[in-house]
Amino acid sequence: MKNSITLIFCFLLLMVIYARPTIAQEVVVFDILIVRYDRIYKCNCNFINAEDESQYDYVDGSIRGPTQWGNLNPEWAACKNGVEQSPIDLLYERVNIDPNLGQLQINYKPSTALLKDRGHDIMVEWTGDAGSIQINHKSYKLLQSHWHSPSEHTIDGLRFSLEQHLVHQRTDPILGNITAVIGILYNIGKPEAFLSKLEKPIKFIIDGQTVIDVGRVDPNYIKISNKDYYRYMGSLTTPPCTEGVIWTIDLRVRTISLNQLESLRAAVHDAPNARPLQPLNDRKIFIYKLKHREDYVESS
Ligand SMILES: [Zn+2]
Repeated sequence: MKNSITLIFCFLLLMVIYARPTIAQEVVVFDILIVRYDRIYKCNCNFINAEDESQYDYVDGSIRGPTQWGNLNPEWAACKNGVEQSPIDLLYERVNIDPNLGQLQINYKPSTALLKDRGHDIMVEWTGDAGSIQINHKSYKLLQSHWHSPSEHTIDGLRFSLEQHLVHQRTDPILGNITAVIGILYNIGKPEAFLSKLEKPIKFIIDGQTVIDVGRVDPNYIKISNKDYYRYMGSLTTPPCTEGVIWTIDLRVRTISLNQLESLRAAVHDAPNARPLQPLNDRKIFIYKLKHREDYVESS
């Protein structure tokens, strides 16, 4: 009898041991995550979702704060070693007017999308073909849009209430994935049309949902000036801070309502999600203006 009990115990012990994931299985799981992040960072900005938000934060002086991002993960070394990092101050005195940039070619179209809570921000991710922009005769497909509050980029040292990023990508046969981001700055004023369309799903995010099917979303509701913009080479503003990102910042400052800003802030638990300014180093900031204008701030 005693032997039988011992045998049953040993059998159960072996079952427990073999039921645990082996090192090989754990490696496979890890690889899948890496592939996911790889796709993510090439799609620009943090696709890191709510479960991963503890990996880094925006708190000044925190062990996971912006000055420590480069020490938290070897894959994030560019956050401390990079020399072309974003965001930057767009100092007007330092810009170079470049008429050769030409008007921004934007060809967006409505497409199916999801609204996702990524922990530090919320994102509209287009699952279908939402169109593209053209830069240097190359087409960059629109992938997603998200918001930072307060703004990450500043103009002549001036920070704004909100910054929206529209993330695009093309795959080069030699260079791989290249990211192009359009940044739009907002102050408080009239409601913004694109956010108005997302009012209800943003409330669901505030209530705790993490992914919402929002049906067809038209990016053309986002006002972007194709006639006046800044252009510079920078990086993702979240880990892994990958460089080689083509930045286009709309010269015109738009407006959102206070309610819209408060909803976006509530969706991220009212935590600021703007990376501090990064050194310009020897980079050039270009500017394209179709006509000379002084007033680029929408009246509210
Ligand atoms: Zn961003």
